[in-house]
Amino acid sequence: MSMTKKILIGIVLGLIVGLTLHIYFPATFDSVNTYVFSPVADLFLKAIKMIVVPLVFFSIAIGAAGMADPKKLGRIGGKTILLYLITTAVAISLALILANVIGPGTHAGNIPLPEEAPDAAKDGAPSILETFVNIVPENPIAALAEGQMLQIIFFALVFGFGMAFLGSKVDRVKELVEQANEIMMWMIHQLMKIVPFAAFALMARAIGEAGPNLVGSMALYMITLVSVLLLHMTITYGLFLKFIAKLSPIKFYKAMFPAMEVAFTTSSSAATLPVTMDRVEKGLNVPKSISSFVLPLGATVNMDGTAIMQGVAAIFIAQVYGIDLTITQQLLIVLTATLASIGTAAVPSAGIVMLTIVFPVVGLPIEGLAIVLGVDRLLDMARTATNITGDAMVATCIAKTEGADINIQEEASKTA
Ligand code: ASP
Repeated sequence: MSMTKKILIGIVLGLIVGLTLHIYFPATFDSVNTYVFSPVADLFLKAIKMIVVPLVFFSIAIGAAGMADPKKLGRIGGKTILLYLITTAVAISLALILANVIGPGTHAGNIPLPEEAPDAAKDGAPSILETFVNIVPENPIAALAEGQMLQIIFFALVFGFGMAFLGSKVDRVKELVEQANEIMMWMIHQLMKIVPFAAFALMARAIGEAGPNLVGSMALYMITLVSVLLLHMTITYGLFLKFIAKLSPIKFYKAMFPAMEVAFTTSSSAATLPVTMDRVEKGLNVPKSISSFVLPLGATVNMDGTAIMQGVAAIFIAQVYGIDLTITQQLLIVLTATLASIGTAAVPSAGIVMLTIVFPVVGLPIEGLAIVLGVDRLLDMARTATNITGDAMVATCIAKTEGADINIQEEASKTA
């Protein structure tokens, strides 16, 4: 049986069991929750937290080293990074606007804040100036030990830039960081094998505690997220294609469809990379000299779909707990989710692990993750398709601005 099927079964069973216990056997729910759902759900959440600090450090350092590589930082490199950052920031902004307007979490009922919720959730958030000054850690080891995400990201970025600029002098450290990152990805991969059980427990616990209202809210969360993904792909990418690449979006999507299918089924931008490259080169006529730089970099650092998920999830969880996020906090989400998406590994479910960065920065409890985690694996499929489409769109625009002839080679797209 495929993983997706197993996860679906886990989610549906969790939903049925949680709802039945909530409505008919509330007393039984308490003991089953204490001895079964909560331990399984907590073990899974703890395992995610275990992975996140080293993962953020290693993956952001590598991402930064890749972007700041002086050998690549030519005209094309600069344009590529600029377009990647702009499209990601637009993606999260769209996510925040739609999530605020639709309000998927506003009818979830009264979910109490967990006991050990971050201070900001209870005492109000620090000012933007305080947050800004706090980004620089006095002691990076303390930042790592305390899981101070913005500080870790800052140190990782500087470390990565250092690796890039020192080049071959620090090859061994670079190799070490890359290999350590491989190990963290392997851990995520192992963790994903128990997702069906975790999804069951998380779902049963969340629905059992909060009742039927939460089911509707979760469905609305999924609808909101998918709507933003579609909107971003049609409108944002459509405009870029039309005005920069001077290419019909329909032709673009026809050529890219096979790669989107692969992304959808594998949930991994990295696994899809060979197909993305094939489609961009053969289907969209982008020169290899451009695609071989823009696409591998994009698969690692440019994840609009992931950023959208992080934006929608943050607003959703704030609404579920009844926390009002200020404009400053929402801007902080744009910044953090952009960085988090850069650091997200191109493998299944990495984005949800990185969500643990975004929550504490704006004072949302990590426990909120449990509410979105149950359904995340399905949404991962849709956002990965968006991720690789964004890379291909940028590659096409760059090729056009470099004077390439971007016309669709129908034959190539038919035979692919
Ligand atoms: N699965 C996504 C990707 O590989 C990353 C994520 O989990 O958001 O592009």
